[in-house]
Amino acid sequence: MDNFDLHNHSTASDGLLSPSQLVELGARHGVHAIALTDHDTVDGLEEAAAAARKCGVRLVEGVEISVSWGETTVHVVGLGIDPADASLAGGLQSVRDGRLGRATRMADSSRTWGHPGHLEAALALAGSEQRLSRTHFARHLAESGAVRNTQHAFDKYLGKGKPAFVHHRWAGLEDAVGWIVGAGGVAVLAHPGRYGLKPLGRATLLEEFKRLGGEAIEVVTGSHRPEEYATWRRVAEEYGFLASRGSDFHGPGESPVEPGGAGPLCP
Ligand code: AMP
Ligand code: MN
Ligand code: MN
Ligand code: MN
Repeated sequence: MDNFDLHNHSTASDGLLSPSQLVELGARHGVHAIALTDHDTVDGLEEAAAAARKCGVRLVEGVEISVSWGETTVHVVGLGIDPADASLAGGLQSVRDGRLGRATRMADSSRTWGHPGHLEAALALAGSEQRLSRTHFARHLAESGAVRNTQHAFDKYLGKGKPAFVHHRWAGLEDAVGWIVGAGGVAVLAHPGRYGLKPLGRATLLEEFKRLGGEAIEVVTGSHRPEEYATWRRVAEEYGFLASRGSDFHGPGESPVEPGGAGPLCP
C-alpha cells in the first residue's frame, strides 16, 4: 500500500526542518505522498513543491488551522488547498496576527513562573512574530536547562491549565472549514483524541464539523496512542468521515513518529 503522510510541520511554523529538508526526509523514508500542514500558514508550500518535484514525491498542499470551539482549542487540517486562494490567505493572516499578543500575555504570566527574557528567546527561535508558538517557548525552556525536554515544558508550564497557559481566541470553526473548502481543499479534524472532550462534547463537535462541511478525521496520527486508533476508526465509520493518517512530525529527536512512520490505517 502507498505510504501517505498527511500531516507534517516545517520551519514555516513550529517544525525544525525547512520545507525541502522535510520532503527529502520523507523521500528517504519511502513516503509516496507528503502533506506540509504548517500552523496557520501556507508559506512553506512553494519550497516544498520544488523539493517534491526533485525527489519524485507527491506533495499534498496543506495547512493546519488553529480554531477556538467554545473554550476548546481544536486544529483543522486542510488538504489539497489552493495556497493562492485570497480568502484562505486573508483568514490565515488574521489568525497569525494574534500570535504575538498571545505570546506577550504568556510571557507576562511568566513573572509568576520565573523565566524572564523568554519572549525574546522564543521569538529568536521562531524567527518571526507570526510563527511564534508554544513550541518555541518549550524549546527555549529545554535549551536553557529549565526542563529536561520540550514535552516536560508542556507538562510543567505550557499545557492547558499550567502557569504559562493563557486563553486565546483563534479562528471560528465555521470560518476555518469555509476557508479550506473555499480553497478547494478537504477539511480534516486533526488528532480528535487530544482535546480531552467528554462523549457529549465529542459528539457535538463531530456533528457540527460535519454539518459545516468537514469531510475527514485523523485516525492514525503521531498525536494518538496506537491503542486509540480503533476507537477513532469506528467514529469515522459511524459519522461517515474519511479517515486520515499523518505523523504530525515536527523534528528529529523531538517527535515520536518520523515522516511516513505512523501505523497503517487498516490493520
Ligand atoms: P500553539 O499553536 O502555539 O498553541 O502551539 C501548539 C503546538 O504546541 C502544537 O502544534 C504542538 O506542536 C505543541 N503542543 C501542544 N500541546 C502539546 C503537548 N501537550 N505536548 C507536546 N507538544 C504540544
Ligand atoms: Mn505544532
Ligand atoms: Mn495540531
Ligand atoms: Mn500538527
